[in-house]
Amino acid sequence: MNVSEKFYLGLDVGRTIRGALVSADGRIINQQKVIAEVSDPRIFISQLIAVINDLRRSVETQGRAFAVGIGWAGLVNQSAQRIEVMPNMIDLSAFDLHDEIEQATGLPVVFDNDANVAAYGEWRCGAAQGFKDVFFISIGTGIGAGLILSGQLQRGSRGFAGEFGHFKINLDGLECACGSTGCLETLASGPNIVRRVREQLFSDPTFSVSRLAMDMEGILTCERVFQAAMERDQLAVGVLKETAKVLGAAVASVINLLNVEVIVMGGGVMAAGDLILRYIRKEVQKDAIAQAQESCAIVMAKLGQDAGIIGAALLARDTLPE
Ligand SMILES: [Zn+2]
Repeated sequence: MNVSEKFYLGLDVGRTIRGALVSADGRIINQQKVIAEVSDPRIFISQLIAVINDLRRSVETQGRAFAVGIGWAGLVNQSAQRIEVMPNMIDLSAFDLHDEIEQATGLPVVFDNDANVAAYGEWRCGAAQGFKDVFFISIGTGIGAGLILSGQLQRGSRGFAGEFGHFKINLDGLECACGSTGCLETLASGPNIVRRVREQLFSDPTFSVSRLAMDMEGILTCERVFQAAMERDQLAVGVLKETAKVLGAAVASVINLLNVEVIVMGGGVMAAGDLILRYIRKEVQKDAIAQAQESCAIVMAKLGQDAGIIGAALLARDTLPE
């Protein structure tokens, strides 16, 4: 047994804290999942430290963990390595978490946005491997993105680049969690796809079931809607096409703006696979400049939910001193 093997820790932190111990070539060796305790920052921080310490101890006989990468479901100030906002979750802005985790674990730590680390994972060992100009999109409860240009992860001046979910798609649209209105997220995120189905199903408020319909959280899910679309339910197919239309328009804008080589699409909503991807490609064909789209592939992500933990670990591998 090679006792000097190098490992890296990757964490993907949202309502669930996912952590993994990853080999230097991007394989998950061991992983842990914990529901985040968001009511108390101190408990939350101790949960994170416990996940890191448990995972690193699990390979002590084989080698050593060298560094930790953490992707956060929020805005991370890159230069200060501080969490500025974790929407609808927990306020960590008053804590110097970076220093605290480094001190508690004795390991160097790097913070980034969750979509950035997932993009990094797909780029290093997933669907975008070998490309230099990549736009990664994750569509789930929210919509995030990560951008790689000329072989470099781009974060913008302070780390807030890639907020693709907040592209304004509808000038008269719904209020968004970001404070603006009509964002892509208000139409194409998982919960908003479900909302649109509900609105169509129960558009006539005189039915007494209409009120019951508002209480269908957890029963009517995006997954079920797209399953119904696969079984050719007309309403579900309509909602899926409409979703592909807005996503396609936004993706076309990205292609026009950045002339990337590949768009990688992941997240729970894209579990509908080819069914939705086909329509997105069609929309892009209509909306993007021909020369830019001809040289751009639109593909499904490969790593699924593991993109974030693998990407965070590999980001730590590539950016932190040993
Ligand atoms: Zn928004």
